[in-house]
Amino acid sequence: MTKMDKIESHPFGIHNWNRKILNVYWTITVIYMAANAITIAYIFGSGLETAPLAEVILRSFLLPLGGMIVCNILVETFNKKRQRGGGNAIIALGTVLSGIVVAFHSNTNGIQLVFLLPMLISIFYFQRRKVALSFTLNTFVFFVLLAFHPGLMARLNGNDIVLTLAVLMAGLVIANGILSRGIEMQQHLKKTVEAQQDLLVKNVMMDKLSKTDALTELYNHKTFHEYLDKLIEHAEKNGLSLQLAIIDIDNFKKINDTYGHWIGDIILRQVASAIRGHIATDDFAARYGGEEFTVIFTDKTLDQAYHIVESIRHAIERTNQRELEGQPVTISIGLQAYNRGAGKESLFKDTDASLYKAKRSGKNRTVIGHRAEAIG
Ligand code: GH3
Ligand code: MG
Ligand code: MG
Repeated sequence: MTKMDKIESHPFGIHNWNRKILNVYWTITVIYMAANAITIAYIFGSGLETAPLAEVILRSFLLPLGGMIVCNILVETFNKKRQRGGGNAIIALGTVLSGIVVAFHSNTNGIQLVFLLPMLISIFYFQRRKVALSFTLNTFVFFVLLAFHPGLMARLNGNDIVLTLAVLMAGLVIANGILSRGIEMQQHLKKTVEAQQDLLVKNVMMDKLSKTDALTELYNHKTFHEYLDKLIEHAEKNGLSLQLAIIDIDNFKKINDTYGHWIGDIILRQVASAIRGHIATDDFAARYGGEEFTVIFTDKTLDQAYHIVESIRHAIERTNQRELEGQPVTISIGLQAYNRGAGKESLFKDTDASLYKAKRSGKNRTVIGHRAEAIG
């Protein structure tokens, strides 16, 4: 199946268009009625009539119009019953309506060119098959009328017939050209939309990559600082409560030296996942660098933050480290609440000082800033 076939076999909104095209045919019927009424009024008004009014009204007005309305209603009913295939009946209706006009106005010069109109209308379907069907039906009915309609037979000479055929074929070529152009534009649009979607996905991925640490999948150093800046601004403006924790793995160098960096990396990921598993959704965890992590707590009391970091510490300490032959991994934590007006640098220095105290007083503990108490 080629691309073209695919587009043509799934015409978009086809049912809507069946309705719209039927409306077009009803409109054409009404226009035909109005044009005929005006012509008859003009002929009789100017005394150009060649037959009695009653006969003219019957022959040139009531009969063709009645035929058109009956055909319209037949196709309407057929279309209501069928979900598929209704399009072909509508295409055929166009030819029949044109046939009626040509048959009843065979003495009007060039009237056979109305066979071109249903072909133009068939373009609405955006299907080559429908355009080809319309061309075949129109040409066929034209020849049938030529063969059996005495008026048309008498008026058209060989030249007229060749010219009519040429116009119908030109219509077919133009209709196909319009379809090709439309399909080309549709494909171009599809490619553009796909390219844009690809770009969007790439942007989201790049954005995530630039914000996170590849090893632990926590936020990275840069994102931590950006986020902390924003939160401090918020804390200054709205009094949002804010705590910062710096977490450092104890004796990590020894782990690396004894078991290798590969195992060291596994421990880093374990610690990261323990942190992630204990913090709330509105808290923010980052790998600050090396074996150091930071957590920003928002909307919590210092006590609540303390309990969370302690639960992280206990969870890590209690994990059975098979990679380290059962040796526990421990962490030290400095925790500090943000005091309004203090600024980021002071918050960071104070938290760091608490971490330093935790290390100095034996590691594997949390030290809360200002209270300067070590809880092991
Ligand atoms: P302390 O208890 O005082 O914190 O001592 P420590 O050994 O944990 O601290 P130190 O700063 O002496 O060593 C940190 C080590 O972390 C040194 C470095 O090789 C290691 N490290 C940093 N980043 C990585 C990493 O991405 N992977 C691994 N495996 N090791 C890392
Ligand atoms: Mg360190
Ligand atoms: Mg360390």
